[in-house]
Amino acid sequence: MERVISLSLGEVVLKGKNRKHFENKLIGQVKKSIADIGFKSVYKDMGKVYIAADYENFDQIIERVKHVFGIVYISPCIKINRDIEEIEEGVKLITKEALEDNPSIKTFKGVAKRADKNYPLVSMEINNRIGGAVLKNFPIKVDVHNPDLYIYCDIKKEAYLYTKRYKAYGGLPMGTNGRGLLLLSGGIDSPVAGFLMAKRGVQIDSVHFHSYPFTSERAEEKMFKLAEILSAFTGNMTIYSINLLPIQKEINKNCPEDEMTIISRRFMMRIAERLSEKNEYKSIITGENLGQVASQTIDGLTVTSAIPNRPVFRPLIGMDKVNIIDWAKKIGTYETSILPFEDCCTVFLPKHPSLRPRLKDIEKSEEPLDIEELVESAIANMKIIKVKEGEVQNEEE
Ligand code: ATP
Ligand code: MG
Repeated sequence: MERVISLSLGEVVLKGKNRKHFENKLIGQVKKSIADIGFKSVYKDMGKVYIAADYENFDQIIERVKHVFGIVYISPCIKINRDIEEIEEGVKLITKEALEDNPSIKTFKGVAKRADKNYPLVSMEINNRIGGAVLKNFPIKVDVHNPDLYIYCDIKKEAYLYTKRYKAYGGLPMGTNGRGLLLLSGGIDSPVAGFLMAKRGVQIDSVHFHSYPFTSERAEEKMFKLAEILSAFTGNMTIYSINLLPIQKEINKNCPEDEMTIISRRFMMRIAERLSEKNEYKSIITGENLGQVASQTIDGLTVTSAIPNRPVFRPLIGMDKVNIIDWAKKIGTYETSILPFEDCCTVFLPKHPSLRPRLKDIEKSEEPLDIEELVESAIANMKIIKVKEGEVQNEEE
């Protein structure tokens, strides 16, 4: 008998021919996430991934791998050979442990699954043997509809028994959908947007715009703090920190006041596009949300979308604010996001921002600007900061 941790893969298993590639990415990330804790091996057995490690480290390992995308459930298991007598012995052990853990358990149900259809007993027969072993040894009853305790038995090359299933985030392994550049502000939305796209397999770096000295250093620190929290999910992250002030001054001097925000947005997109070309980001990610503020009307989004030559992912586009806030609390960014520091966009905030900008008009307004020069010099003056993968912060269940 050996104790291992099983990882159930969600959509990864649907990937047909690509499955191996997805599984291997995921295994690589699992190993990386627990490298400092230590483990004996990470291996596949018929559709699931298993971690063999010291039992005393199981809780810590489970916490870590919860944040590896592509995993749906995590279970501490005992691994035994497939003799039905051994399985019965194993069932006694895990039932005893489950009852010690939670003495109020009154009912149970066996849930056998044969990944290997050549196993001599069918699932129902295995369940009967599980049931027999429990009923003979413990004062609890069978309830097939709503049991207090599920006793799972997976028959693969080996047999695995477990009673607990911890939920993970699902999604796809990081990097299976290329690298993406997140526009990270200090607000509530953009960290959530980054998290959601990372969950879909995008490997994320970030660009941040500030208007120093009009915006404070503390505003930038707040953004770093958010990046650090996010990095528990995304891994190490590069941040390009860009001073937008020279561009904002030029816009302020040369363009209609009500178009200030939307033209700044177009510059953010231009810079993001340029960084993407240089660093091979295949997508640009924002926390925009339809109708939330003036620059996020359908016409506003049309005008900003017209800039980049690659897809702009806006995973929050159709979400209500309450749901976005729920995510922010869940991933631990909310408390930092609501700290009151000014954002670069508030520096030259127009009194009456244009709600229905038209691309033609905006392009006309931009004519006096030396766009190329402004973009290049903003990039030439940027700071590049490396954020190291951090521990998860005050994550809520
Ligand atoms: P957030 O809460 O993410 O700041 P928001 O609701 O305040 O979003 P806006 O300020 O209109 O909305 O910004 C929309 C999106 O544009 C942000 O989610 C972010 O992706 C990007 N963005 C805005 N300001 C900045 C900035 N200073 N640096 C980097 N990206 C920014
Ligand atoms: Mg904002």
